[in-house]
Amino acid sequence: MVLIDGKTVAQALKDRIASEVRERGYTPGLAVIIVGDDPASRVYVNNKKKACAYCGFYSEEYALPASASQQELIALIEKLNADERIDGILCQLPLPAHIDEKAVIEAIAPAKDVDAFSEADVGKVMIGNYTFSPCTPAGVMELLRYYDIDVSGKSAVIIGRSNIVGKPMAMLLLHADATVTVCHSKTENLREICRSADILVSAVGKIGAVTADMVKEGAVVIDVGINRGSDGKLHGDVDFEAVKEKASYITPVPGGVGPMTIAVLMQNTLKAYKSNKNIN
Ligand code: NAD
Repeated sequence: MVLIDGKTVAQALKDRIASEVRERGYTPGLAVIIVGDDPASRVYVNNKKKACAYCGFYSEEYALPASASQQELIALIEKLNADERIDGILCQLPLPAHIDEKAVIEAIAPAKDVDAFSEADVGKVMIGNYTFSPCTPAGVMELLRYYDIDVSGKSAVIIGRSNIVGKPMAMLLLHADATVTVCHSKTENLREICRSADILVSAVGKIGAVTADMVKEGAVVIDVGINRGSDGKLHGDVDFEAVKEKASYITPVPGGVGPMTIAVLMQNTLKAYKSNKNIN
């Protein structure tokens, strides 16, 4: 079994970005907006700020109270849309219930939508002609590439059909010529379908969602889940200890997909900067 080391792969990607930025004198700028005080969101935002500092980016953080109105939030996004120092705008999800996430995502200028959550970006990912990569799924693809895991012609099963993970993950694997099945909470025979997977990606958000009896001997197991356990620690969806005995490759949580998501966000921000400044 090979333990997929997302930290190292993400570090290599950030190092490449940081040296390009330093050598060429680039100043990509990322604005991160957080609304409310969800502890998980706070951790993600802090990690994104740290990655910006590491890569030599300019970054701004806007922390709005949970009571902020949709109007206020969209006014801030419009100000950032017009700000030349800012190449990428990211609004950390989830947002408080009184704010319409879709309206907020769509308010971000397409050239600055580095999370690639807008309808237009999602559509481009489906067609396979996109500038901004969907961060988490692209991070998974980068891990597969780094470990020389061939997906062409293989059976890939994804558990989860969210717009930010499951669906774009299916598209990227399909573009890489895998035969893709997407499972979800209503799927019948989940165990059997998962057992047919050469590559199994779990994006459910539940501890223990993937048990060893769902995994084929020698499968590649990618755990996207990040769940806070009753022990206060972070856990994936996969029963890691049991599944690692069957998998050929497996990602840990933490230290698997999570760091890759942030590294791809940095890559998208650098792309946005070059495109906004007409650099080839
Ligand atoms: P989501 O809640 O939007 O989607 C969960 C999906 O799982 C749904 O499509 C649902 O149908 C499916 N599901 C739920 N219960 C199921 C069951 N019992 N059997 C089969 N399918 C089931 O979540 P999301 O935003 O896609 O995130 C999924 C997980 O990935 C979460 O733990 C989240 O924290 C994590 N995540 C990690 C990263 C990262 O960088 N590693 C990025 C985004 C999300």
